[in-house]
Amino acid sequence: MTSPSRQMRSALLHLECTHCGAQADADLPHGVCPRCGKVLFARYDLDRLRAALPRDALRGRPPSLWRYFEALPVRHPDNVVTLGEGLTPLLPLPDLAREFGVRSVHVKDEGLNPTGTFKARGMAVAVSRARELGVRALVAPSAGNAGAALAAYGARAGLDVHVILPEDTPPGIVAETRAYGVHVQLVRGLIDDAGRLARQLQAEHDGWFEVATLREPYRVEGKKTLGYELAEQLDWSLPDVIVYPTGGGTGLIGMWKAFEEMEALGWMHGERPRMVVVQADGCAPMVRAFREGRTGAERWADASTIAAGLRVPAAIGDYLILRTVRESGGTALAVSDAEILAAMLRFAASGIFASPEGAATLAALPHLRDAGVLGPRSRVVLFNTGSGLKYPEAVGAALDLARAARAGGRARRPPA
Ligand SMILES: *Cc1c(COP(=O)(O)O)cnc(C)c1O
Ligand SMILES: [Zn+2]
Repeated sequence: MTSPSRQMRSALLHLECTHCGAQADADLPHGVCPRCGKVLFARYDLDRLRAALPRDALRGRPPSLWRYFEALPVRHPDNVVTLGEGLTPLLPLPDLAREFGVRSVHVKDEGLNPTGTFKARGMAVAVSRARELGVRALVAPSAGNAGAALAAYGARAGLDVHVILPEDTPPGIVAETRAYGVHVQLVRGLIDDAGRLARQLQAEHDGWFEVATLREPYRVEGKKTLGYELAEQLDWSLPDVIVYPTGGGTGLIGMWKAFEEMEALGWMHGERPRMVVVQADGCAPMVRAFREGRTGAERWADASTIAAGLRVPAAIGDYLILRTVRESGGTALAVSDAEILAAMLRFAASGIFASPEGAATLAALPHLRDAGVLGPRSRVVLFNTGSGLKYPEAVGAALDLARAARAGGRARRPPA
């Protein structure tokens, strides 16, 4: 069973703006902050949570993210829409630890989620909560995987779903999304162009609710379970360095929120990890803003990368991503598509069939070593956010590149 037991109750209190501090009623559907338009967070009654959910109570709970039910926003277990998301494996990579001279490297393999990516976490919670609040129709722009996850959970819940994708979204992901029987619309441009259309459609249709990244408060609640799981799987300690492939930043922001909640609950002590943002060098707005010391990021022109989930030229949560990286003593760096493709095969050599986005975290390791971020005592966690199965084109490109490199290597060798 992956559903929570019927006796459990959420400790959700209200919504609170991460920018201006305004509060909003959590039991009405809200998008962004009604006062300033920035990101809303769900806030919980931590005293109640401490009493209702002692750490040890997790033993014997369902092997899904719903094991943290009281710390999630769905009021009643009957409203949970689940496909078994979460509690993915945290796998050691001793070869990489040796190669980079660190204490340990683990990969959290999110490719094992329903729909093959960690987008399932956010959508499971957002769709459950939307249904609980009486929403009947959902609309979202997506670079691909969020749309597929929304389609799957929307289908499961019996809701009307509309997904808007860039026309060059990887074709397998478009086909998957259509297969769930939802409305799919392709647009010329990128995810922010799709976002403009989504907002227009929401405004035109009574009762439609938009679930774009960080434009409603509950997807990040699903993603924060990455942080809860990491702590639980590491026996209530945290790694020194977390390397996260960053598009809209929901997972990074969510984990940071989870660490704060777990500290308030007395579940965790000690230092938080350094959070490392990895982007593709063809779309690296957060890296540029971090280097320039800015608190927000400018839109990246002509965004292009094989890692579709990282092709996010502008993010509403930019200020939260940058704040998290700085507070954590982390850093932000970009890797090339060629480095990403090589890293996919390096992951595969350890049995892990990674998405290009996940492979970007492995590709970041040499840069982090050179920058002095890694030390002999560092425990490092990489996030493989999706399965390579969703990207046959990228896998083909990776194999072609490796073949060309081998042929080139032979050609350069002097004849015997
Ligand atoms: C969406 C996505 C990302 C980026 O996630 P954010 O939390 O929005 O930064 C990374 N990898 C994959 C596979 C994705 O689908
Ligand atoms: Zn506000």
